[in-house]
Amino acid sequence: MADYLISGGTGYVPEDGLTAQQLFANADGLTYNDFLILPGFIDFTADEVDLTSALTRKITLKTPLISSPMDTVTEADMAIAMALMGGIGFIHHNCTPEFQANEKFEQGFITDPVVLSPSHTVGDVLEAKIRHGFSGIPITETGTMGSKLVGIVTSRDIDFLAEKDHTTLLSEVMTPRNELVVAPAGVTLKEANEILQRSKKGKLPIVNDRDELVAIIARTDLKKNRDYPLASKDSHKQLLCGAAVGTREDDKYRLDLLTQAGADVIVLDSSQGNSVYQIAMVHYIKQKYPRLQVIGGNVVTAAQAKNLIDAGVDGLRVGMGCGSICITQEVMACGRPQGTAVYKVAEYARRFGVPVIADGGIQTVGHVVKALALGASTVMMGSLLAATTEAPGEYFFSDGVRLKKYRGMGSLDAMEKSSGSQQRYFSEGDKVKIAQGVSGSIQDKGSIQKFVPYLIAGIQHGCQDIGARSLSVLRSMMYSGELKFEKRTMSAQIEGGVHGLHSYEKRLY
Ligand code: GDP
Ligand code: GDP
Ligand code: 5GP
Repeated sequence: MADYLISGGTGYVPEDGLTAQQLFANADGLTYNDFLILPGFIDFTADEVDLTSALTRKITLKTPLISSPMDTVTEADMAIAMALMGGIGFIHHNCTPEFQANEKFEQGFITDPVVLSPSHTVGDVLEAKIRHGFSGIPITETGTMGSKLVGIVTSRDIDFLAEKDHTTLLSEVMTPRNELVVAPAGVTLKEANEILQRSKKGKLPIVNDRDELVAIIARTDLKKNRDYPLASKDSHKQLLCGAAVGTREDDKYRLDLLTQAGADVIVLDSSQGNSVYQIAMVHYIKQKYPRLQVIGGNVVTAAQAKNLIDAGVDGLRVGMGCGSICITQEVMACGRPQGTAVYKVAEYARRFGVPVIADGGIQTVGHVVKALALGASTVMMGSLLAATTEAPGEYFFSDGVRLKKYRGMGSLDAMEKSSGSQQRYFSEGDKVKIAQGVSGSIQDKGSIQKFVPYLIAGIQHGCQDIGARSLSVLRSMMYSGELKFEKRTMSAQIEGGVHGLHSYEKRLY
């Protein structure tokens, strides 16, 4: 009783709420909607909250957000935008290995730029512009890298040419070698950037001592560097990029192409990752590419996680059947509510220093905060990022609403496209394909250039309310028991949503 006596305005405050351990103590599986976090004490502003978090043992991100390797979510545009904003994208593998490897994007030295020769035409530059989106093209003797630099063509050289001039040879319009500012091979990115700033040009060709082209640098990238201070980059200042592979024999070829293209991290894409096939693939990759970071999964129990951690994974992807497009739990009877899955796996994996990705079921920024508060280091999103400008696919209209397609990689629709998702969801030789996902559409969300900053600010505000200055503080508060949770009854969930209005408009940012 004495515990409850408060004198003089200060005094003992009774225990309130549940620790994470207590929240998950009984066997009820909980989803993100089944609980709330109790607020703490604020002595800092939201923008001070540090969201730095580990993706794998060796890769750290400034923003804990990941785009899912799905063919309606992540190809090059999404991966670039996610990396620029401090997260990362994983390129899907429902395509040929060559297509997937080509999606790798570089931002520092461009070592494999599009190159033409003096005997190519203005039409070829215009075609490159349509195909790749840029028109700053170095010209070498043979039109390939490693050949002597003879000039450069940029949009300024061709913009005002008439249609009939498309057959004009580049030798006539290019700025010739003797007028070019170049930098020697071996120059650092910093020095190269200084030269670019002085020359005020859009491109800086890098040549070796035989005057052969070895790389170029684009001024736009210098600007991006300034505009995207959070960008996820490797030691060569190239944007980080992940890619998904399966666990079949022919995935080894895909893996070779992806590593040649510079993928920094691989996720082994399987809906049930605790298998001899995945363990063998982890061993294979670790032996052949010891420095490549490998994420295993998906898993939802500590026992599944143990086998993959023992095999040597650098990160774990957690979630089974919680995705918005997913019917796994309905069909296979396997899976786990995502809140419980994240807590149980993260709590086990942290003992081995293996970070956890909470994958799927993220519907709101609040869900992101909850996933991180349950021990996940990062979250992976499909539906939340689908139908943005950067997601693959064209917009279409239905009943006047602008939509993009979003489909599960285990949907029959995705399966029919190629073998990548068949591997994730089916066994070899299956005669009857059983769908584990659906195919649908999502309303246009605009660019993630606006949406991701909203997510970042939302997470920072969530952490502020909790009283956690950083994600590592958030996790240690949770494990120490300082962070308190409360279960949410059905009526509490109704109370927590908008209610009792005749009509309303929900604008988030
Ligand atoms: P441009 O002036 O039309 O060449 O285009 P910008 O320089 O404004 O933008 C080109 C963007 O594409 C930069 O971010 C480059 O890093 C990127 N990029 C990737 N590969 C290549 C390439 O092969 N050539 C060029 N010019 N840019 C590339
Ligand atoms: P843009 O602004 O995207 O058209 O491209 P740039 O600023 O790179 O190029 C402007 C003009 O300068 C074009 O005629 C280019 O061919 C030419 N140019 C590009 N790089 C160099 C260089 O290093 N030295 C000189 N003298 N001209 C260049
Ligand atoms: P969302 O963010 O849309 O809720 O979930 C995305 C996640 O769902 C993906 O990252 C992936 O783990 C999972 N997923 C994608 N396609 C399918 C599918 O067809 N079936 C199942 N079971 N899960 C899927």
